[in-house]
Amino acid sequence: STVLMNGEFIPREEAKVDIEDRGYQFGDGIYEVIRVYNGKMFMAKEHLERLSASSEKIGIATSYSISELTILLEELIAKNSLSTGILYMQFTRGVSPRNHSYPETVAPAFVAYTKPLSRPLDNLENGVGTITVEDIRWSRCDIKSLNLLGNVMAKQKAAEAGCFESIQYRDLSVTEGSSSNIWIVNGGKIRTHEANQFILNGITRQKIIQLCEENGIEVEEKAFSIEDLIDADEVFLSSTTAEVTPITAVNNVPVKEGNIGEVTKKLQDLFVEAIVGECGQ
Ligand code: PMP
Repeated sequence: STVLMNGEFIPREEAKVDIEDRGYQFGDGIYEVIRVYNGKMFMAKEHLERLSASSEKIGIATSYSISELTILLEELIAKNSLSTGILYMQFTRGVSPRNHSYPETVAPAFVAYTKPLSRPLDNLENGVGTITVEDIRWSRCDIKSLNLLGNVMAKQKAAEAGCFESIQYRDLSVTEGSSSNIWIVNGGKIRTHEANQFILNGITRQKIIQLCEENGIEVEEKAFSIEDLIDADEVFLSSTTAEVTPITAVNNVPVKEGNIGEVTKKLQDLFVEAIVGECGQ
């Protein structure tokens, strides 16, 4: 396959990382994952704006404008004949002799590659199991940084419990999944953690909120407790790769009877309409 590395399209095998790349040594960088449906990026502008926002928050100067990057990414999709899949991209602060502090002159390193990936139809239809874990991460989870150790540990706990995702909580408030946002539904009303420094403001999350507003579904951006989670009529998660995935169990306890809720189904339908609207059938 072809990857895009520091402005050049090169074969995957030729893409090499320097041992003193700060992304490699410190996780000093930022990334994005964009969904591709029918060879077209979904919500590219929002993802690239978030990348730009992340870069500003940690002072990494990205080497491209959003429109330049869009053109390069479209070219990468075409070169790889990608139809349905994902586009991964990252900027690290660059290569510099190892030292926690960095010189102003260090040039950012960029890489992007594609991967074919089907829509997760089985999970979308049947739902997934989850466990709750303590959120041990730092307090700048709004930055989509390469520092993912807390997320990795949370996801691994879920995998070892035979679950799809971990639901993290901080001081008894549910924050988010290890790589997703978490939602509850009660009496037809939807709720998810407010977009502050304790969660990543998911692009899928933003689309769901927009769809709720356009379709008269009540949505509240306010943290909820573990108790609220346990008592919810419906629970679901959202992410670029998982879309709107129903959660049918928390800590081995079925959510209601383990059936997919009506509001979740409705949002899944609206979400597919949004995909078709932007990327076609
Ligand atoms: N929270 C975290 C920690 C994530 O890693 C992700 C996946 N990128 C999300 C939320 C969902 O974000 P998005 O909808 O933009 O994929």
